[in-house]
Amino acid sequence: MTPTPEECRHRELKWNITAQTSVMAIQTTVWGVECVGCGRKWDVGQVMQAVVDLSASQERVLELERPRRGYTKGVRDDARRRALNILNGWIDVTGALQREASYYYELQAVIEDAVECGAQAALGIREPLEAERGPESPP
Ligand SMILES: [Zn+2]
Repeated sequence: MTPTPEECRHRELKWNITAQTSVMAIQTTVWGVECVGCGRKWDVGQVMQAVVDLSASQERVLELERPRRGYTKGVRDDARRRALNILNGWIDVTGALQREASYYYELQAVIEDAVECGAQAALGIREPLEAERGPESPP
């Protein structure tokens, strides 16, 4: 059964080339495409407009994804190093705790989570961190 152009997905196209003779006997060739499924025809102008529309929509998708793509592992590691340097500087100045103390490693984890929270906020997302999920039940 031949689908109507409204319900057809136009998955298979073929060239549609016709010769036209004008009233002044000038012959021109008209290029277009035709859907194999439903027989709908488009002229070259419509095909090119569809290509332009498609590339514009793909550019829009890239535009929306750009902030996430810009958040590389290198950027994240740099932010984490920077924050940990601030923590170490504070420890050196205040002498509040030893760098060998277990609290030091816990503080580092809190700082790293804070960096992740900031990164998520900048990207407009909010995904739970491991520390927010609570303790995992033992197997
Ligand atoms: Zn079709």
